Amino acid sequence: MRKALSFLSWIVLLAGLGATTAHLITSTMATHPTALAISLIAAVIAIVGYVLHRPPLFIFASIFGTFLVLMSAAVAHEEQASAQDVELLFFAGMLIMNAGLFRFVHIGKKGEKAQVLPDGLIVALGAWILAWVIIIQPSLETDSGYSVTILQAVVLSTAITAIFLLTIIVFSQNSSSLSLTFLGVSITATCVAIVLRALSFNETYNVADGIHITSLLLAITTAGAALLHPSIHGISHSRPLRTSAPFMFRLTIMSASLIVPVLLIALTDAFDTRDRIVRTTSIALLAVVVIVRVSQSVRQNSRAQDHLMRNALTDSLTGLPNRILMLEHIADALEKSWLTHQQPTVLFIDVDRFKNINDSLGHSTGDVVLTHVASRLLLAVPSEATVARISGDEFVILDPTTESPTQSVVLAEKVLDSLRSPLPTASGDMFVTASIGVAYAPKQLDLTADALLQHADTAMYRAKDAGRNCIALFDDTMLEIVTKRLDIETALYRALERQELQLVFQPIMDMTIGMVVGFEALMRWQREDQAIAPSDFIPIAEETGIIVPLGTWALNDALSQLKNWIQQGVVSQDTSMSVNVSAQQLHDPEFLTHVRDALNNSAISPELLTLEVTESIMITEDSHALVAMRNLAHLGVRIAVDDFGTGYSSLSVLQHFPLHSIKIDRSFVNNLTSAKDAESLVRTIIAMADALGAEVVAEGIESAEQMNTLLDLKCSKAQGYFFHRPIAASLVPEVVTELQNRDTWLK
Ligand code: C2E
Ligand code: MG
Ligand code: MG
Repeated sequence: MRKALSFLSWIVLLAGLGATTAHLITSTMATHPTALAISLIAAVIAIVGYVLHRPPLFIFASIFGTFLVLMSAAVAHEEQASAQDVELLFFAGMLIMNAGLFRFVHIGKKGEKAQVLPDGLIVALGAWILAWVIIIQPSLETDSGYSVTILQAVVLSTAITAIFLLTIIVFSQNSSSLSLTFLGVSITATCVAIVLRALSFNETYNVADGIHITSLLLAITTAGAALLHPSIHGISHSRPLRTSAPFMFRLTIMSASLIVPVLLIALTDAFDTRDRIVRTTSIALLAVVVIVRVSQSVRQNSRAQDHLMRNALTDSLTGLPNRILMLEHIADALEKSWLTHQQPTVLFIDVDRFKNINDSLGHSTGDVVLTHVASRLLLAVPSEATVARISGDEFVILDPTTESPTQSVVLAEKVLDSLRSPLPTASGDMFVTASIGVAYAPKQLDLTADALLQHADTAMYRAKDAGRNCIALFDDTMLEIVTKRLDIETALYRALERQELQLVFQPIMDMTIGMVVGFEALMRWQREDQAIAPSDFIPIAEETGIIVPLGTWALNDALSQLKNWIQQGVVSQDTSMSVNVSAQQLHDPEFLTHVRDALNNSAISPELLTLEVTESIMITEDSHALVAMRNLAHLGVRIAVDDFGTGYSSLSVLQHFPLHSIKIDRSFVNNLTSAKDAESLVRTIIAMADALGAEVVAEGIESAEQMNTLLDLKCSKAQGYFFHRPIAASLVPEVVTELQNRDTWLK
């Protein structure tokens, strides 16, 4: 239906254009019937459109005005009615149209109208100057009748008013609709008709007699098309702001309205004093409106610029400066501090566990909390200090007036205190804490704002590590730790491809029979000429996720070594290989595939592979890990709990996991011979393993006494320096032979 109506309105428009052209060509012959026929058809279409779409009455009023003007013009032309009567009818038609347009303007947005008012005035004044110089002033000089001329001037003024109102409507509309365009054309054509008619009265212009009727026919057909088109529905609705205003259209109209009248005034001479007065006054008025318009533009521009600047430099939620502005403040404070004995302090504040608040109570509560935190901080700091929000839950405070680190810490404590009382939110009172990093600018020439902020940030991480809700003061060792870590992290990424990693193997003994029954594969990193301990790089590899490819490599390498030893007869067919596995690897969906591939590639049977996982995985009851372990166990691989006893897992949790063996941590074995309770602890662990159906391996045996105690406790498997330290793969045959000879270690 919409499509059909839209199509029909285009047809009406095209038919109207055709008929109008025909009328233009044949105007001398068949004025009356053609005009009447076209206008009646257009009127019927307009009524149909009105009934179908029911647009506001004022739209219809502006069209009805045109119709009235057309009818009076057509009848007058035919019947040679008196010029005065025709002008009066025109006046009535234009009044109705203006009333309609005025109502249209009235319902628009006030702010938008005020903005385009000077534009409307410029167009209207331009039109008035043209009308005066070209029509009104020459008519006053001819003897066509003073009253008619006055009436014509009044009708022309109504046309100018219509143009003024139309300009305001079109310029303040956020987006133009086709109906509005048609309506605009219709009103403009009516006004042109009035001008043409007025011109036809003056012999010097030689304007054809009925030509204004042609223009009115165009007006009425476009009006009909406007009413029929479905876009008439939203014609007066305010729409979302247009992103690209019709700049060229507006510029063309405005330039023409300014240039043409000014040129006209400049190129023609004033006829008499009255003419000079009217011209001067009109041009002066035009100049005033232009000045108003220009100053309005300048003001708008600077307001927009202010707005942009504010948005670019402040945080929209709290209105506090953002990171960019804060860095400028810090740089400024550092620069000024050279002249005084003040050394600025920067506090980096991170709200503890803010993510939990956001996740559990929603972002709007999160926003309320942040706003409260911002106002608490503002209240806590001295007036010279600046508070900024630099990202999500991170705030920064700059106090340029501090003179010692003690003052910096006192300020930080004040800030921490300010958050102690609960924050009111719609979901109830909330308690938040923060971790604060404190950086105090030393009297050191090359410290940049960025570096000082970075120091505070580093210290904040230290505060977080120390258990949150506390303060940490930056010192240079923190930077060293951070730099060292960063260095390891980047080098670790390349370690694998540079073949800097290597596996060493520690034999696992069956102490009752004096045989090597397995090995534990342990990773070593030889970085250039420096050996890096697993305790230094494994945690970093875990945090960064590099442990996943490293672990897969270790798995493959360990199994292929075992295969070699079995094939060479170095060890027996049922010797096992233990490989350490981190939680991140268990979370990797590909892990099971990697294990299967490693077993296939080495043709080692799954029962010979033991994967060692730490007790912490059980404590957190990590469900992903549990599923992964069950799948691995299903594959036939054995699972061992490493460093058992260092965590706090309970029997009830452990029983969910498919465990084949438990490795008693070195710390218990160490104390076995010295502390009595260590022995009973180990006894308990062994009993627990029995209950779970898992075997026990003791770690870190360093003496014969420890070995004997373990044997007494019925623990037969063990590894430790007492038997052998971890060794490179090439040394394994030699070491195995040495260990199989029981005498070497049972002495
Ligand atoms: P872990 O799995 O508990 O390995 C046993 C650690 O104890 C090894 O340290 C080993 O050299 C050491 N050790 C063995 N016997 C004795 C002894 O009698 N006395 C003493 N004082 N120490 C002994 P290492 O090689 O430094 O490894 C440390 C930790 O790094 C390992 O503890 C394991 O958690 C981790 N790790 C090593 N290699 C890998 C790996 O390939 N992947 C993963 N995810 N972690 C690994
Ligand atoms: Mg281990
Ligand atoms: Mg261990």
